[in-house]
Amino acid sequence: MGDSMTTSPRNGPGTGEVLLSVQGLVAGFDTDAGRVQAVDDLSFDIHRGEVFSVVGESGSGKSVTAMTIMGLLPTLKVSAGQILWHGRDLLDLPDEEMRAVRGNQIAMVFQDPLTAFNPVHTIGRQIGEAGRIHRGLSKKQARLEAIDKLGLVGIPEPHKRADMYPHEFSGGMRQRAKAAMAIMNDPDLLIADEPTTALDVTVQAQVLEVLVAIKDEIDSAIMLITHDLGVVAGLSDRVMVMYAGRQAELAGVNDLFYRTHHPYTLGLLASLPSLVGSDDEPLVPIPGSPPSLVHRPSGCPFHPRCASAEDPGRCASEVPQLRIVATDHLAACHFAEEVASGDRDPRTVDRGAEA
Ligand code: SF4
Repeated sequence: MGDSMTTSPRNGPGTGEVLLSVQGLVAGFDTDAGRVQAVDDLSFDIHRGEVFSVVGESGSGKSVTAMTIMGLLPTLKVSAGQILWHGRDLLDLPDEEMRAVRGNQIAMVFQDPLTAFNPVHTIGRQIGEAGRIHRGLSKKQARLEAIDKLGLVGIPEPHKRADMYPHEFSGGMRQRAKAAMAIMNDPDLLIADEPTTALDVTVQAQVLEVLVAIKDEIDSAIMLITHDLGVVAGLSDRVMVMYAGRQAELAGVNDLFYRTHHPYTLGLLASLPSLVGSDDEPLVPIPGSPPSLVHRPSGCPFHPRCASAEDPGRCASEVPQLRIVATDHLAACHFAEEVASGDRDPRTVDRGAEA
């Protein structure tokens, strides 16, 4: 579909056709307390075939980014930037054209699949609805395709399950069914916002595997949004870490885990149970909490919590720009190279192995 675009160095590494290109996005909400700058100067590309993960604590701007791409935040004020989809700026699309993109070319899997389904209609009917709306399928065609998609996401006996209601599905099955609904029209991009947070660990892994299998089956891309770096380790191609609405780090998954250049990413890694140190080593949470986006700290927004901050110095006065710090690796830290070498942050470990 459409022309491929070339990527710019600022948007990070990645190969293949660029499906989505977010460029210099600045957006926020007006509140009684002032403007909440939810997303500040965000740039990245998503390529066909990849799993692009966006990681950060609550309030980092990751979900706002996803909802802005989907055009689902009518109160959001975009003050700069573009969201190019196959070369067209989604921010300029009339509502009718945006509706044709949403659910058809770009689809979303939300965190809580129970609220995504209407309890009074069968699962099969609701999945088929997307095909009826966007492609004018007959009821019979829509049902057959819905059964086909339910089978694709690993629902056993899909022809029987299609006639069941949401409350008759387990949490894991509902999330699979939501994935089936999202792929009804073979979208080019599947945005999954915390798709497994409400599930237990075993089912989490199964659902994530299904999402990746779907991506390969329909030759699409996945934008996976999560607060948990552990979730992205095994299945991402590239990872973007966000903090206070800005990009902290963007790199291939192995580089991000093993050649970390940003203290915030190091903090997220140090709080993971299975990826850092031995089993006996205590987990180290990041001190403090994310800042208010109304009253953002001066300089680097992470400086009040950063163990590597220069105080007094550049960290509290100068906003670090996202820059190339190594091949195919971007970070927004004044001292990224020193952080990566271990000179500035004792948590930096040259793990010397692949994820
Ligand atoms: Fe920490 Fe300073 Fe780097 Fe910000 S710029 S992450 S405060 S060392």
